[in-house]
Amino acid sequence: MAVLPIHITGNPVLHARASEVTEFDAGLATLVADMYETMAAAPGVGLAAPQLGVPLRLFVFNWTDDDEKLWRGVAINPELWISPTPTGEADEESESEGCLSIPGERFPLRRAELAILRGVDLDRQPFEIKAEGWLARIFQHEFDHLDGVLYVDRLEHKHARTAAKTIRKNGWGVPDLSWTPGVDDLEA
Ligand code: ZN
Repeated sequence: MAVLPIHITGNPVLHARASEVTEFDAGLATLVADMYETMAAAPGVGLAAPQLGVPLRLFVFNWTDDDEKLWRGVAINPELWISPTPTGEADEESESEGCLSIPGERFPLRRAELAILRGVDLDRQPFEIKAEGWLARIFQHEFDHLDGVLYVDRLEHKHARTAAKTIRKNGWGVPDLSWTPGVDDLEA
């Protein structure tokens, strides 16, 4: 297992639709192990393969809810159903979201309260998780990565402007930047 560099916004792999996984081989198992390790080192609660430069439809997640229940797994070739996204302004305190590909920044974004994630694991076993609250948010965020969508692409206008400025100020938004947890001094 290894901690791998995480690509920063601007890298084309983060802005394109990823392909279905077709080979459930040792290479895929190694990728998933590296994804767990990189997510833990960051640290983060989710990580999608395109963030490591791999244009495949899978993500890992690791989240402990308010009842101390651990939600941890890999979703390969997932489908996501979500409830309607609430209208109105996102709350800065309770709805601010971050992304390891835009490290150290957070912006408020409305998300659907409920999500149903369906996918398969490394053994091609299908599973389904009914999620609410922050877990549902994680699934929406990671699923978006597989379609080349970053959360900053979904922000309300005023936050989108701030995010664009921040990305420019950091020198991001170019094709070839990455950071490695534990190596580069960046807090996600
Ligand atoms: Zn992200």
